[in-house]
Amino acid sequence: MLIDVKDAPDKAQRIFVQLVDVFEDQEINPTPLNYYIWYQYYKGSNPKFRQEMDAALQDPFGYNDRLGRRLYDEYFAEDEGTNDFDRALKRLVGSVVKRMNVWSAKLEKHTQELDQNLHTLSEESLDAEKLKQLTSHMLNTATSMKQSSEEFQHEMNESNAEINRLRQELIEAKAETLTDELTELGNRKAFNNTLQDLVEQTPDNPESLILILTDIDHFKRFNDTFGHLVGDSVLRYFSNIMKKSKQENDSICRYGGEEFAIILSHSSLEKGLQRAEKIRHSLEHAVLKRKDSDKTLGTITASFGVASYKGIDTESIDDWIKRADDALYKAKSNGRNQVVSETELSRVTDAPK
Ligand code: GH3
Ligand code: MG
Ligand code: MG
Repeated sequence: MLIDVKDAPDKAQRIFVQLVDVFEDQEINPTPLNYYIWYQYYKGSNPKFRQEMDAALQDPFGYNDRLGRRLYDEYFAEDEGTNDFDRALKRLVGSVVKRMNVWSAKLEKHTQELDQNLHTLSEESLDAEKLKQLTSHMLNTATSMKQSSEEFQHEMNESNAEINRLRQELIEAKAETLTDELTELGNRKAFNNTLQDLVEQTPDNPESLILILTDIDHFKRFNDTFGHLVGDSVLRYFSNIMKKSKQENDSICRYGGEEFAIILSHSSLEKGLQRAEKIRHSLEHAVLKRKDSDKTLGTITASFGVASYKGIDTESIDDWIKRADDALYKAKSNGRNQVVSETELSRVTDAPK
């Protein structure tokens, strides 16, 4: 194994996972060299290289293996790499390039020999013995070419398998680092990434991004009464209620212990409030029973705070989260088991100075 996926920094993982789709969409050969070039492109390493790629990509068929090879020779052949992952990837690509060079040198030698033989063949004064010699020589060259080609193909297949293995591992590692084990929802890191990505993608209509924060009511008391394990199964139960309400563009994450976040895009504050209310209602009316004895566990409720994003020029992501959290806090202080909108918060910033 040439590359240990544990060496891959976060950014490399995110890039590689993106590249899986890019390579498929644009029908780029998934070779180590192409991966290396595109990884560098997404990393934004070298401004001149970036410009060349940008220019090439203006044309839908602008990128191909040849261009990749040229860009590699021009910008990265001497590159050292900035971390262990970069260096390992570079070693893999370096060995592929070396094999390609050996192969093309062999090919050139064989082609020259064939050319030479063909030239001799075209000479007029060729006796039977010479012809026999020549034919046998040509046959040898062709056999040797076939053999080198097979070896080369085999080596290339191995390198491609290595890069595919790496790609798969990175996808799995990414899923692991972004998933909460207990509920199989996104974790806090997934929550942060999602908000960041959405804020970057939705500059025109920020208020269509809605954040719902929810926290189970008196969960400590529940744990104290029934034990932590039963508490865990309630967290899973509540997660499943939320998953059932999930629509295409939503993300649901475990924000903290018994706190969750639902992020809606292409939505509105009104729809966010309705969604929260629907989930609140489902939880309140669920009859929770112990799996082992069928004994009832009573009911569980949760409180909700809902806020829409105001736009990158108006507020930071933290400001947005704080408004949803303030609304959630208000739902708690109003008596729990309810949904509070950010519009119900007294707006200190609107007050006259
Ligand atoms: P409030 O209505 O104000 O939210 O009251 P609360 O008791 O829910 O809030 P508090 O913050 O006092 O307690 C949260 C509890 O959530 C305490 C902790 O034991 C429990 N909790 C956090 N994470 C987990 C978990 O993974 N499993 C279980 N079973 N309990 C957890
Ligand atoms: Mg809490
Ligand atoms: Mg709580």
